[in-house]
Amino acid sequence: MSHVNSTADYLIVGSGIAGLRAAVELAPHGRVLVLTKSDPEAGSTTYAQGGVAAAVGPDDTPERHAADTIAAGDGLCDEDAVRVLVQEGPHYVRELMEWGARFDRDTDGAPALAREAAHAVRRVLHAADATGREIGRTLGERLNGQSSVKVIDHALAVQALVERGRVAGVRWLGSDGRLGEARARATLLASGGAGRVYRETTNPPVTTGDGVALAYRAGARISDLEFVQFHPTALAVPGAPRYLLSEALRGEGARLINAHGEAFMPRYAAQADLAPRDQVSRAIVREAERTAGPIYLEMPSTVSARAIHERFPLISSLCRSVGLDLATDRIPVGPAAHYLMGGVWTDLDGRTSLPGLYAAGEVAATGVHGANRLASNSLLEGLVFGARAGRAMRDDEPGAGAQPGSRAIDGPPPVGDRLSMPIEERDVADLMWRFAGIFRDGSGLRQASEVLESAWHTLRQGLDRGGSLDASGWRLASLVSVARLITRAALLREESRGAHARRDFPAKDDLHWKRRTYQVLDPP
Ligand SMILES: Cc1cc2nc3c(=O)[nH]c(=O)nc-3n(C[C@H](O)[C@H](O)[C@H](O)COP(=O)(O)OP(=O)(O)OC[C@H]3O[C@@H](n4cnc5c(N)ncnc54)[C@H](O)[C@@H]3O)c2cc1C
Repeated sequence: MSHVNSTADYLIVGSGIAGLRAAVELAPHGRVLVLTKSDPEAGSTTYAQGGVAAAVGPDDTPERHAADTIAAGDGLCDEDAVRVLVQEGPHYVRELMEWGARFDRDTDGAPALAREAAHAVRRVLHAADATGREIGRTLGERLNGQSSVKVIDHALAVQALVERGRVAGVRWLGSDGRLGEARARATLLASGGAGRVYRETTNPPVTTGDGVALAYRAGARISDLEFVQFHPTALAVPGAPRYLLSEALRGEGARLINAHGEAFMPRYAAQADLAPRDQVSRAIVREAERTAGPIYLEMPSTVSARAIHERFPLISSLCRSVGLDLATDRIPVGPAAHYLMGGVWTDLDGRTSLPGLYAAGEVAATGVHGANRLASNSLLEGLVFGARAGRAMRDDEPGAGAQPGSRAIDGPPPVGDRLSMPIEERDVADLMWRFAGIFRDGSGLRQASEVLESAWHTLRQGLDRGGSLDASGWRLASLVSVARLITRAALLREESRGAHARRDFPAKDDLHWKRRTYQVLDPP
C-alpha cells in the first residue's frame, strides 16, 4: 500500500536544468512538487562543462545558429523546434545573467564566447569549464525561499498514476523503500538521459532513462531512440571514470593524434578536429582500428600551460586525478555514450501524446536535434523548452493537446511479490556497447534484441501482475526498457544518418528514411 501521499498543482520529476526552469515558471501560479531521485544536483546538468549556445555575439544571428543546428541534425531536425530554440534562446540566456549567472566575460565586459565543433562562429557562453553547475546554482537560488515549491529528494518516480485515461501524477519509491503517490493536474518528466544504458558513458549514475521507461509503460509515444550521441573525447584511462574532455578544448586548438603523433582528423572530415561529434567519434574508432593503437588529445604548444589550466580548471583537475597534465601530456581519449537525441515525443510546448503528461530536457524528443545534436544546444534546450512546458502546464485545460485517441494505460500498483531480475546491469551495458554502439549492424542488433526482448517481457508480465521491485530493480527495469527501445529503433532504420551508423547500410537513404521513428507500447 502507499504510505506517503501528496497533492500539488504541478508535479516535476527531476531537478536538472529543465525541471528547475519549469519550476521557476510555475512557482508563482500554484503549488509545485519536485521529486528527484538522488541528491538534487546529481543529474547531467551539474556535469555540463563547455557551455550553453546562444546567438548573442556581434557576428551571430538566430538564423546562423539554426543553420548549424540543422546541418548537424543531418536532415532530421524539426525546423519549427529549431526556430523556437534559436530565436528564444538569447532571451533565456540573458535572463539567466540577470538572475546572477556568472558567465566568463571578455575584457570589454561582454560574455566571452567559445567556439565548439560544427558552430560557424563563437557562440558558446561558459563559466570556466563548469557551466552547468553555475546554471544549476542560479536556478536553485531563484527558487530558494519560494514557499510554493517543495522538493523531495531521494524520491524515485516509478510509475504513472492514471485516472480516467489521463496521467494524474506518479507513484514513487522513497529511500526507506516505501511507496508514495504524488498527484497533480499536470506532470512534467524532466528526468534526463540514459547514458548508463552503455558500458562507456560520460553520464552520471542517475541517467538510466527512467522517464522514457515510465512514459512508455503508460502508453506515451516514444521517438527517435536510434539516435544516441557518442562524445568523441572521454578520458580513456583504464579503471578511471570516463570523464568528459569538452569540445571547447579543440575549440581552443587541441588536436586528436594517433599513436604515431599524427593529427589524423583532416583525413576523415573537412572540418577536421571541429567536425560534428558523430563524425569525430567514428573517425577515432576507425583510426584506432587502423593503427591498432590508442588515440590522444594534445593541447597546442602555442598556448601557455597557465592559460590552459586557468581556462579549464575542472578538466585540468580531472586529468591530474589520474596523474596527467592537461597542458603538457597527451591525454588518452575515446568515445562514450553522451546524449540521447530521442526520447518521449513532445510538441513545441512539452506536451506528450498523453493527456496530463509533459516532458522537457534530455528526456524529451522535440525533434530539435534531429539525428545528431549540435554541441552546447542541450542546456539551451532545457532552458527554452523547460520554460515553455511550464507555461503550457499552467495554461492548458486538463487533457489539452493530447494526441487523438491516446489514453494513458493504467498499471496495478507495484505492491505484490518482489520480482526477480532476468538480467544484470553489466550485461545490458556490455550488450549495448558491443551491438548498439557507434557502429551497428543487423546481425548484432538482432542478437542484442533477442536478449532484451526476453528480459523485457519477463519484467512486463511481472509488473502487469502487480509485482514489486526495489530501487535497484527499478533501475534495471528502466535500463532494459530503454535498451530494448534503442535496439528496436536502430534495427528498424536501415540507413546511416547522423549518430546512427549501420555497417550493413552505410549510406543515407533520404527516399525511405528522411523521417522520424516512433514506438508505442503494444497492448498486453
Ligand atoms: C559530462 C557532461 C558534459 C556535458 N556538457 C554539456 C555542455 O557543455 N553543454 C550542453 O549544452 N550540454 C552538455 N551536456 C548535456 C547536458 O548536460 C544535459 O543534456 C542536460 O543537462 C540535461 O538536463 P535535464 O534537466 O534534462 O536532465 P538532468 O540534468 O540529467 O537532470 C535529470 C534529473 O532527473 C532526476 N531523475 C531521473 N530519473 C528520476 C526518477 N525516476 N525519479 C525522480 N527523479 C529522477 C535526476 O536525479 C536529475 O535530478 C553534458 C552532459 C554531460 C554528462
